[in-house]
Amino acid sequence: MNSIIAIVGRPNVGKSTLFNRLVQRREAIVDSVSGVTRDRHYGKSDWNGKEFSVIDTGGYAIGSDDIFEEEIRKQVALAIDEADLIVFVVDVEDGITPMDAEVAKLLRKVKKPIFIAVNKVDNAMRDADAVEFYNLGLGNYHTISSINGSGTGELLDAIAEKIPAPEEVDLEKKELPRFAVVGRPNAGKSSFINALIGEDRNIVTNIAGTTRDSIDTKYNRFGFDFNLVDTAGIRKKSRVKEDLEFYSVMRAVRSIEYSDVIILVIDATRGFEGQDQNIFWLAEKNRKGVVILINKWDLVEKETNTMRDYEAKVREQIAPFTDVPIVFISALTKQRLFKAIETAVEVFENRKNRIPTSKFNDVMLEVVKNYPPPAIKGKFVKIKYCMQLPTQTPQFAFFCNLPQYVRDPYRRFVENKLREIYNFSGVPITIYFRQK
Ligand code: GDP
Ligand code: GDP
Repeated sequence: MNSIIAIVGRPNVGKSTLFNRLVQRREAIVDSVSGVTRDRHYGKSDWNGKEFSVIDTGGYAIGSDDIFEEEIRKQVALAIDEADLIVFVVDVEDGITPMDAEVAKLLRKVKKPIFIAVNKVDNAMRDADAVEFYNLGLGNYHTISSINGSGTGELLDAIAEKIPAPEEVDLEKKELPRFAVVGRPNAGKSSFINALIGEDRNIVTNIAGTTRDSIDTKYNRFGFDFNLVDTAGIRKKSRVKEDLEFYSVMRAVRSIEYSDVIILVIDATRGFEGQDQNIFWLAEKNRKGVVILINKWDLVEKETNTMRDYEAKVREQIAPFTDVPIVFISALTKQRLFKAIETAVEVFENRKNRIPTSKFNDVMLEVVKNYPPPAIKGKFVKIKYCMQLPTQTPQFAFFCNLPQYVRDPYRRFVENKLREIYNFSGVPITIYFRQK
């Protein structure tokens, strides 16, 4: 699980410029395959071997010209609740504004690591001007220029120091699956959880302590042991209303980060919408397992092919990652709840699939021999060897003479074959072609 860093501050101080620099625009904003506009304010980054997620809270502000003080206060409060570290951006050109002082007041009460980034320090002359930010009462600050990048390396050094080293994964160790039930407001998440675990919730343990344990709760249902990661249905926070887009995004990001399998609940009467796509994409990007539950199926009028057609439409929306189980349920009539949990457990197991290298070579080299990459500019790609990489989640490498000539369609062909032969249903996989 990655640490989450929230960038907070007034409008126009340079939050999104800093955000873009931190995530290095590694991700295309518009997905070329589906054409969907992705979330511009959430990204992943790494520095000194530490991986983390970055959220630009300002990106979710409503309106642009007016300063919605209440809005900013809410976002800072949420960042305080949900993020692991906070970067508070201020503008050296403006000095400390009343709004900055207000934000600082909120942050002074917080125990999480807080970094003040005095932005727009584009040259040494402005270094001296930054001194006044000591008066925020938050201790030391970093001077940066988000535009030219100076100082951002030092800021990242300081941030990385506060981030725990990546967890060692021990695949032999029996860990309980961690599920997060996510979806739009009113999709039926709480109803599903209540139907599943009952009002009494059969809580076996609720270990407090580390950040992660404190948001896991262990359950047993239908003979399966699993943890449910903190969701709106389990631990409602009253401070902010759920209709705030930022709130749902933040909650979704956090529960996704902390879990192995995402149970994405869709309201059958509304269909798979943009926000569902965003959550799905977050799960895929974080290499988490996914199960889609089409809830409220009791409300849908059914003819012979209704389910099949519905499923096909959803698969169109989630392309190209379509190898995902879709289960039609009703939290109200308790239809297929067993199936839902059984499927989630299966996805959890699929995600741990490890294929021995010799067997993998026997099978996959045969596949690529029968259907080699097309020659490009008279060059023939020869794949000599392949293996599943020793990574936390399924990733594969195909070693060849000319990896740069392997195009996306071929990569997809290999992925589809791999998915036909092995069971990676609900699990994002990555395939690399590497020089050998
Ligand atoms: P946000 O509203 O806090 O997300 O701010 P933006 O990132 O949109 O930046 C607001 C304005 O400040 C833009 O015109 C940026 O080009 C400018 N800006 C951002 N960072 C810097 C910087 O380091 N130096 C200077 N001179 N301008 C900056
Ligand atoms: P949440 O916001 O995602 O937690 O959604 P809720 O669990 O609060 O459900 C929203 C509304 O949908 C409530 O009125 C539920 O009674 C209703 N609902 C949830 N699941 C079902 C279902 O399977 N069938 C029907 N007919 N209604 C449902």
